[in-house]
Amino acid sequence: MIRPGFLWLALAALPAQSQTRYRLTFPEAAQHCIQIEARFGTGGEAQLDLFMPVWTPGDYTIRDFSKRVDQLSALGMDSRPLPLQPLSRNRWRVICAGQSEVVLRYRVKSAEGPFISGNHVSSEQAVLQGAATFISPVKPVQPAIELRVELPKGWKSIETGLPRAGRAEYRARDFDQLVDCPIVAGSPQVDEFQVAGVRHRLVYLSRPPDSWDRARATRDAARMVEVTHKLWGFFPFAQDPPRGYWFLNLPARFLGGAGLEHKNSTCIEYYGGSQKNLAGYRKWLETASHEYFHTWNGKNLRPVALGPFDYEARNETPSLWIVEGLTHYYEGLLLTRAGLANPSEYLASLSSYIGGFQRTRSIDISLSEASLRTWEPHQRVSYRSGGVAVGFLLDQQIRQATSGRASLDEVMRQAYHQYSGESGYTEEQFEAVASQVSGVDLGEFFRRALRSSETLDFAPALRYYGLRFQSAQAYSQTWRLEVDPEAPPESRAHWQAYLSP
Ligand SMILES: [Zn+2]
Repeated sequence: MIRPGFLWLALAALPAQSQTRYRLTFPEAAQHCIQIEARFGTGGEAQLDLFMPVWTPGDYTIRDFSKRVDQLSALGMDSRPLPLQPLSRNRWRVICAGQSEVVLRYRVKSAEGPFISGNHVSSEQAVLQGAATFISPVKPVQPAIELRVELPKGWKSIETGLPRAGRAEYRARDFDQLVDCPIVAGSPQVDEFQVAGVRHRLVYLSRPPDSWDRARATRDAARMVEVTHKLWGFFPFAQDPPRGYWFLNLPARFLGGAGLEHKNSTCIEYYGGSQKNLAGYRKWLETASHEYFHTWNGKNLRPVALGPFDYEARNETPSLWIVEGLTHYYEGLLLTRAGLANPSEYLASLSSYIGGFQRTRSIDISLSEASLRTWEPHQRVSYRSGGVAVGFLLDQQIRQATSGRASLDEVMRQAYHQYSGESGYTEEQFEAVASQVSGVDLGEFFRRALRSSETLDFAPALRYYGLRFQSAQAYSQTWRLEVDPEAPPESRAHWQAYLSP
């Protein structure tokens, strides 16, 4: 480990720069803390306002990261302390006293919550989430950021989607990219595969148990990536360095697992038992499929409210039924198209989502409202299960209206083509793409499905695919979809086409 004092002198000899630079060290890793030194250009201003995010994109939860910050101090280039005033829970003001650059030093303690949305440091390893780590100028002089991570003795490597600029140095285009690239450090285990010439890394924070079949996990992930790539036709992350994708697998404390999406990586909390524990392995595959689909749907194709992010407030949108619901819809569908789940497993998962949607349809909250209210605790109506149900019905209507020539896949591609740039889409714009692809006006369907809590009729979709309810009590809590053995050949053909990659 490089002693902090030594590097401080070396850095102090560099000419002043306006670019933000962070240096992360781990002198108190055993106490679950990271030490951060940041240098910010002042642009000649008399004062510099700094902030820390209160949430991390994709999480839709106020996490109040600044409560884990302590030992905060500001210095000038001459190492003299500068006045530092707290402005709110997550904002501070440095009085610059004529300095062209100020140095901020602070410590961040590990979170108690999930790995995917907070920092976790121990004497062997670290998982760092940008929103929980970096205090930044409200108005940086330059957007580009340099990062240096100095690992303690015995730690072997770093895995992150940030572009590398040296052995331990990384470079981010701006704060968004820095926050969007979680960092895993320690002695991670890595497996690798390529699809269409693009590298994908399967990273395990710590060595998985021997019962976890790493070769199978790599093979299955590669197959899932192939099918997802086939749907979209390109990789959004293949253009910019580092031109690859990272699946960062972190230990889960519970069987359920969780994941959080990023533009060229994902953090997945996985229950690293074994593939014999089918529920755990299937959950890992579903989560990997879900987070990977988000690379397109959510991270690049996004509602207007989700970019540029306001890191200090709720970012409310009525469109999470698209971002989350349609991603849940595709997570299982793509695994089935990839041959990694069988049709009856897919029907079980679809039934459970649709069942969840039906059970809360009597509550007078529409899916659009539920999406806007996701930041409130105890939200009872799920735009996730609702989005799967609406996605299923929408997909079928498009297939029927176009005699099978188009599907929801085409809507996703068209929407990406039109709205994945700077501006994002409004709910109305996304709906217009669906109507245009289907060739019919879907306005009344969307009004009923998204902006009312009226019941939706599943019978036409079930007839189209040759499906039926296993239970006679179609809308009871026990109903489950199955293939109708008496379905006509054209319905069977629709079902086969639906499940084909
Ligand atoms: Zn998601």
